[in-house]
Formats: sequence, C-alpha cells, structure tokens
Amino acid sequence: MNTPTLESSLAEIVSAKNVLTESEDIIPYSFDGTAAIKRLPRAIVFPSDAQQISEILKLARSQTPPVPVVTRGSGTGLSGGSVPVEGALVVCLAKMNRVLELDTANLTLLAEAGAVTQEIYDAADKDGLFYPPDPGSMRVSTIGGNVAENAGGLRGLKYGVTRNYVMGMEVVLADGSVCWLGNKCVKDVAGYNLRDLFIGSEGTLGIITKVLLKLLPKPAARQTLLATYAQMDAAAATVSDIIASKIIPCTLEFLDRKTIRCVEDFAHAGLPLDAEAVLLIESDGHAAAVADEAAQIEEIARKHGATSVRRARDSAAAAQLATARRSAFSALARLRPTTILEDATVPRSELAHMVRFVEGVATRHALDIATFGHFGDGNLHPTILTDERNTDEMHRVEAAMREIFDEALRVGGTITGEHGVGLAKKKFLPAQLGDASYTLLENIKRALDPDGLLNPGKIFD
Ligand SMILES: Cc1cc2nc3c(=O)[nH]c(=O)nc-3n(C[C@H](O)[C@H](O)[C@H](O)COP(=O)(O)OP(=O)(O)OC[C@H]3O[C@@H](n4cnc5c(N)ncnc54)[C@H](O)[C@@H]3O)c2cc1C
Repeated sequence: MNTPTLESSLAEIVSAKNVLTESEDIIPYSFDGTAAIKRLPRAIVFPSDAQQISEILKLARSQTPPVPVVTRGSGTGLSGGSVPVEGALVVCLAKMNRVLELDTANLTLLAEAGAVTQEIYDAADKDGLFYPPDPGSMRVSTIGGNVAENAGGLRGLKYGVTRNYVMGMEVVLADGSVCWLGNKCVKDVAGYNLRDLFIGSEGTLGIITKVLLKLLPKPAARQTLLATYAQMDAAAATVSDIIASKIIPCTLEFLDRKTIRCVEDFAHAGLPLDAEAVLLIESDGHAAAVADEAAQIEEIARKHGATSVRRARDSAAAAQLATARRSAFSALARLRPTTILEDATVPRSELAHMVRFVEGVATRHALDIATFGHFGDGNLHPTILTDERNTDEMHRVEAAMREIFDEALRVGGTITGEHGVGLAKKKFLPAQLGDASYTLLENIKRALDPDGLLNPGKIFD
C-alpha cells in the first residue's frame, strides 16, 4: 500500500478541491502587502471549521520533519506576517467567512475569522450598531487578520483599536486542541487574560477561528472637516491644541504635500494641490455635541493658521474624503515599482519633530518619501517609494528605515503602531523591548508552541 502524502492526507480532511499545490495556484500566496518579500509555500489549504484545522495541525506535526504552518487571512499585511516560510503549509481562512450571530441584547457579534472587516461593519450597521475599527484595508482584510495584528484604523483616536472590541475567540492551539477564550460578559477576571495574549500574536501562537466582538450604538451624527495648511508645523500644532482642549475627534488624519498630490490625482476628492499639509478631521456623536465640537475644531484650526477649513456638506462628500484618505497607499504605489509603507509611531508631542526628521532622512539618503497617517494617534506612515531591483537604492532604504526607527525609539515611540513585527521589523524589535521583555516573549512562544510549528521566523528568529 502507498504511504499517503501530506497532500493526499490534506485532501482527506478538507476534500481535494480545497488543497492547492500547482505552482501557478500557489504563487499568489507567496507574498502579502509587504514590499520585496516573497517565499513559495508547499501547499495551500482552505479549511471550513476549527475541527479541520485541528486535524491539519496534527498532520503537519506528524510529518518528518514537521511541516511549518502559516495562517493567512486576505494577505493584506504590511510586515510580512503571512509570507510563508519556504515549503510551509498555508492555512487560508478565506472560506470561513460567515457572520454567525448578531446579539442585540448583549451588543455583540460572532463571526468566523475569515469574515471580511467591511462585512462585519455592515452587519452591525444594518441593526443600528457600530463596529468602530476601520483599517484602511477593511474592504479586503479579515477579522482574524485584524485580531492577529491588533489592527488600528482611522477611528482609533476616539474608539481605540481591534483589541478594544474583542470579547472572545475560538483558537486552535499548536497541538491541535481547540479552546474558547473570553465570553459575552462585560467583566471577567477569571484567570490570566489569555484572550489578550492572542491579540497581536501574528499567527505565532494559535489559529483564531471565531471572534466575538463588542459593538456600540451607532453615533447619531457625524461632521467631517478638511483643514488646509501652508506649513506642516501648523497642522501638528492644531492636533496638539485639539487634544489639549479636551476634544477627542473620531478621526484626525494627516497627509503631506506629496501624498495630497498623488491622492488627488488618483481619487479626485477636491484636495488642495498647493497645500503643504491637510488634516482630515471627523467628529461623531449626538448632533448637538458634534455641531459644538466641529465649531471648536474649526476655530482651533484657524487659530493655528489653517488657510481654509472646509466642512463636508453631506455624508456622500464625507465618504469621498474618507475614501481619498484610504486610497493613500494605492495612490502612492503607482509612482515607483516598490512601495515600502512604515508605521513608526511616536507620542503626539513629537509628531512635528518626527515628520521633519523623516523629511531630513529622505534628503540625506536621496530617497522619495511621502508621509501620511493617523496623526491623532501619533501613528505616521512614512512611505518609501523605491525600486527593489536597484541594489544601491535598497541599501539607502535600509539605512533610512533604521534611522527612522532609531529616532522613533529615542523620542519614546515604537517601531510599529499597527502593522506588526512579522518578518519586516523583527531585527528592530530587540532595541525596543530590551533583553528581559524579549526573553519573556520568546518563553511565551516556547510554552504555547514548543516545536515552533506556527509561523516560524516571525516576530523573532
Ligand atoms: C491599503 C492597505 C491599508 C492598510 N491600512 C491599515 C490600517 O489602517 N490599519 C492597520 O492596522 N493595518 C492596515 N493595513 C495592514 C493590514 O490590512 C492589516 O494588518 C490586516 O489586519 C491584515 O488582515 P489580513 O486578513 O489581510 O491578514 P494577513 O495579511 O493574511 O495576515 C496578517 C497576520 O495575521 C496572521 N493571521 C491571519 N489570520 C489569522 C487567524 N485567523 N489566526 C491567527 N493568525 C492569523 C497571519 O499569519 C499574519 O501573521 C493596511 C494594508 C493595506 C494593503
């Protein structure tokens, strides 16, 4: 009798149509949204539930040598998290994409991990409820990917990030056991908070198969404003003053001159082409509070020298501005063959300094860098427009990135505010964590995945 191959055993678990092994089928799974990193997996498998994933993990572990397993949502990650290890088995959750329950009594939503973020937002919205985290990729990214990266979004300033909305999850551990972490209780302090350990774990500790999310009542009103500046410092000062005035808008986004031009060329949203910087600001809540807040924000923006403050006249105009901001990455990506989008994050008080620092780095290394980002969160996206085939330029890119991360750390920031460490940033992590924290991280990985089966080589070696 022939010994079954890994591929034939996988087909027995999920059926042959849910296993890809031909090179033309697996190439699309050899990269994610991160520039210049590609590795071919051995096979792709599309499970339909936790039980199948459990069997897949047991099978991968039983091979000689064990086959590494890389979990994948939609592959929009920007730190190489779902880029396979060479020869790995990719477990793609794209077919586990149902919203399973909307509980209006408890304000929760239960979804399979492969559900697309936008569909979660829409399912809540239909019932007058609100799922706030809105990564720029939300039309494509999965909720499992959002949880695994602890994704942020444009509403992070007021509403926080994915972590703030995860009440529970189903996870398949490296040994194939399936566990539930968390529940619908608003308060629960039974034991260690294991649920939080898996948020932001980048597929290295377990495979998340279901997510229980907290919802909020939908805000009754919104007002979007676009403030234009002739100087970037004035935009940064506006942000500081808004926060110091105890106003927390839902959105406080920044685009620099280069990004404004690219986005306008791409999305035609009416952005001012002569501006040095713009702030996209949104206030939401009770109509009277929103009107009051918008008036105060406008006054602060003008006080700091905004050359114009425009209010979106209706929800369509507001959506157009938000879409323009969401298209920043795609718009910039048209300029050069390779787009490296970083997410160095600093305390808000250091924003103006950091934007200027990035400009200086670009000049020193003769690089094209555009910057936009979640200014209200101190989360910058310096975006390096380059060409990975140009070895000399890539050395300069590497040096520029190191300088940007070193400076972010020097002023009390972090190497990543929302995109995760993955492959792209693991060499910068020890400098941020220090020896004791780094060892603790490694020990946690060893305790949960002693054989290093899950997403090996990500976060650390
Ligand atoms: C245009 C664009 C805009 C973006 N905007 C934002 C933004 O505003 N904010 C932000 O935070 N990010 C943003 N991102 C980055 C990216 O979309 C997020 O990190 C997102 O959460 C990834 O989701 P995904 O389903 O594509 O996951 P993938 O890229 O497939 O995977 C990401 C990581 O999560 C792991 N993973 C995926 N699913 C699971 C699971 N079910 N269980 C365990 N591990 C899993 C993978 O192994 C990998 O390490 C953007 C990306 C693009 C391309």
